[in-house]
Amino acid sequence: MNGKHDKEKGVNVQVILRCRPLSEDEIRLHTPVVISCNEGRREVSAIQNIANKQIDRTFAFDKVFGPTSQQKDLYDSAIWPIVYEVLEGYNCTIFAYGQTGTGKTYTMEGGGRKKNGEFPSDAGVIPRAVKQIFEILEAQNAEYSMKVTHLELYNEEITDLLAPEECTKYADDKSKKPIALMEDGKGGVLVRGLEEEIVSTANEIYKILEKGSAKRRTAETLLNKQSSRSHSIFSITIHIKECTPEGEEMIKCGKLNLVDLAGSENISRSGAREGRAREAGEINKSLLTLGRVINALVEHSGHIPYRDSKLTRLLRDSLGGKTKTCIIATISPSVHCLEETLSTLDYAHRAK
Ligand code: ADP
Ligand code: MG
Repeated sequence: MNGKHDKEKGVNVQVILRCRPLSEDEIRLHTPVVISCNEGRREVSAIQNIANKQIDRTFAFDKVFGPTSQQKDLYDSAIWPIVYEVLEGYNCTIFAYGQTGTGKTYTMEGGGRKKNGEFPSDAGVIPRAVKQIFEILEAQNAEYSMKVTHLELYNEEITDLLAPEECTKYADDKSKKPIALMEDGKGGVLVRGLEEEIVSTANEIYKILEKGSAKRRTAETLLNKQSSRSHSIFSITIHIKECTPEGEEMIKCGKLNLVDLAGSENISRSGAREGRAREAGEINKSLLTLGRVINALVEHSGHIPYRDSKLTRLLRDSLGGKTKTCIIATISPSVHCLEETLSTLDYAHRAK
């Protein structure tokens, strides 16, 4: 792997880029393509040649997946090694970052449903990770326990996607139970009032996921595309019992966070630049802070501004230290998205 890696500080951030294919509508409308991906060179170029607007920029990433790449390709080459580390006791986080409509949810969850028990070929990162985790645990004949949490962060407010129906009314509902974040004094954070579900099979997790994404979809139609402005965090914590060669019992603990971030247009439009970002207020503090935290981690700067947003506070025990982070930046090949695409490429490139 080509990610930034520093053995002493243990910082390991990998940034991969995925470009979706043109949609059927875009093909029908002969939408010009302005992105070209060179998977071998791990480079992406944005090229536009209009008389008064010449753009020709190339960005390098740890891995590049072009429009014809399949879910399996991306998973096996970029994600599999990270999920493996979770079972070795690492806290790992995989983010999908990009403009709304570029394939964050497709990449994380996938398009398909399980058809008569078979694993769909367009299953995304989350179901593949779940499958991999259980396959390895079974192959190792490991004694383990596992729990999952699933939450959504909207405007710096947390909604528990696992909570029973009556507690998950959306947005301005005053009856909603607030969920509180508290530092645990050990560098982690406790989320008071968050449901944790104990799971023991992959199917249980698939069901939980389906319920959570159905809830997000309902909220989306009710609240004007809320999901494009909210972050979804699905976390799996695994405790594995191990015996040292001396016969002592040891518990190894790893955690995997799978994060479908809010659409990146939320920061670029309200101003990714420092001054205007402030005006944007709470709307996407978390996306901006995440960028700064990752920058600070890869630059080894002394101060890591975890505390500046709920997203980075929530993920604090999985960002920095003995952890692995992967950002999947998603873009569209279309000329109409070029401006957003360039800001996604900039954001993602800075994280490298
Ligand atoms: P986002 O979550 O970033 O808003 P979606 O995942 O909902 O975007 O993707 C938008 C549309 O594009 C969906 O219909 C999705 O199925 C399709 N899509 C995205 N990425 C791909 C891809 N790599 N291959 C095929 N279809 C894709
Ligand atoms: Mg989405």
